[in-house]
Amino acid sequence: MKIGMSHGAGGEVMGKLISQTIVNNLSKKSVNGGIGLDALDDGATIPLGDSEIVITTDGHTINPLFFPGGDIGRISAAGTINDVSVMGAKPLAITNAMIIKEGFSIENLEKIVKSMDETCKEADVAIVAGDTKVMEQDKIDEMVIVTTGIGIVEGDKAIRDSTLEVGDKIIISGSVGDHGMSLMSFREGFGFETDLKSDVAPVWGMVEKALEVGGVTAMKDPTRGGLANAINEMASKSNVGAILQDAEIPIKQQVKAVSEMLGIDPYEVANEGKIVMGVKPDLAEETLKAISKDKYGKDAAIIGEVISGKHVLIETSVGGQRILESPIADPVPRVC
Ligand code: MG
Repeated sequence: MKIGMSHGAGGEVMGKLISQTIVNNLSKKSVNGGIGLDALDDGATIPLGDSEIVITTDGHTINPLFFPGGDIGRISAAGTINDVSVMGAKPLAITNAMIIKEGFSIENLEKIVKSMDETCKEADVAIVAGDTKVMEQDKIDEMVIVTTGIGIVEGDKAIRDSTLEVGDKIIISGSVGDHGMSLMSFREGFGFETDLKSDVAPVWGMVEKALEVGGVTAMKDPTRGGLANAINEMASKSNVGAILQDAEIPIKQQVKAVSEMLGIDPYEVANEGKIVMGVKPDLAEETLKAISKDKYGKDAAIIGEVISGKHVLIETSVGGQRILESPIADPVPRVC
């Protein structure tokens, strides 16, 4: 068996590779009883005294390096900051390892580094360590960036993705599919006509506001595999089902148009500045209001609720129901 593109595309195929070939072959996977690798959550925790360190790492292979709404620098910073954030931890610092192709433009490298810096400044995150390597022209596609993020949370306050409870309301912090569909339409050559932009942004501001309300039960960022993957993963890990209202899920008109044109389900493509969360029903409205105050949370919506069962159902505007499956793989490759 050989690695295919779908092994990196954030769906069932990738999940199987990670659990069978990677996680199964590693021995020590957690420290001090914290959340470890086998939880396959957005990050791991290391309890230390009254606090827990949250740590996560992410490799970025996005194609192209510059795209509408962002670039590999912004996504490398935001991607890692967001995985720390959705663990309920305040992101503090990231590291930055860059593997660059021989012949790469120094001007473009500087643009990428500055964009990374801007993104970190937004979340008050420092870049505290890094590494720079160069590979021969024909050995690497432009540039790969690997970032590791560190954050801190009070002991036992980390938020998992596996703790949804029946009755919880499900909130999404904004419109779905912007990143994947903007990248896809840009690659297909009609990016300028649609003025569609990636949503890539740090989500810590929204997370912090939501946590202050106190009702968040589980949280995840719907990156590769989109909303469909995130909600299915959260529900199956929590041993619950969910029902979503199609009409309540925020989606931009252009995203809808492009996804119909390309035959791609916008619920299955990556978002890079969104959160999906379960919230206690009596605090859902207040949490929604808090998130809406953030500049990235204006379109946040309550899109459904957690039910008992095994499936994520979606209720269409005409009253029918269908199962929202977890995608086999994100239909748009190399999105982050
Ligand atoms: Mg994540």
